Amino acid sequence: MYLKSLVLKGFKSFADRSALSMEPGITAIVGPNGSGKSNISDAVLWVLGERNAKHLRGASMEDVIFAGSSARKATGLAEVELVLDNSDGKLPVEFDEVSIARRMYRTGESEYLINGSLARRMDVLDILHDSGLGTGTHSIISQGSLDSILQSKPEDRRALIEEAAGVLKHKQRKAKSERKLAAMDSTLARVRDVVGEVE
Ligand code: ATP
Repeated sequence: MYLKSLVLKGFKSFADRSALSMEPGITAIVGPNGSGKSNISDAVLWVLGERNAKHLRGASMEDVIFAGSSARKATGLAEVELVLDNSDGKLPVEFDEVSIARRMYRTGESEYLINGSLARRMDVLDILHDSGLGTGTHSIISQGSLDSILQSKPEDRRALIEEAAGVLKHKQRKAKSERKLAAMDSTLARVRDVVGEVE
């Protein structure tokens, strides 16, 4: 699986439609300061479901919409589409290519599309669940978080390695199963009480 293309329109400094195509392997985006390199990684985070404006270096989510410049008006809509190559079947869908898109209007309405069909944020998260991509993972490391990783405690760094090795998702599933088991135990205890009263 790899990031095949990214299309931005009305997103931060990308007022006009801009399309980036990527090949497998290393891709570097270079450009002068303030030219929009970090806005591209913000776009990847955003389209994958990021809800915290601060993680996108903004004060509110509206800050992702092109705010206008001396030469042109602000736009009313931000759109990002990301295409993942899924020929290795890493994502749990039958398609060799998966397109995930997100739109947000200045009114605050936001929508997601998966392969062109309207979807919920939860559907996007579900598709990405086992892939190592998505919000809350470290597939995107910002300049600021790199410093904090370098200065973090050994146990926090261990969590990062566990995430990269795919252990974290099993720990999360284990914790979820334990919570379900605890809920079942209390239901069972209530059922036993009722049976005891009836007998
Ligand atoms: P550096 O190399 O300094 O880290 P960069 O190439 O990563 O810079 P970005 O931080 O991606 O640059 O882009 C910053 C530019 O994006 C600024 O000029 C800022 O005004 C512009 N920008 C951010 N949000 C918006 C917005 N909503 N509308 C218009 N322009 C925006």
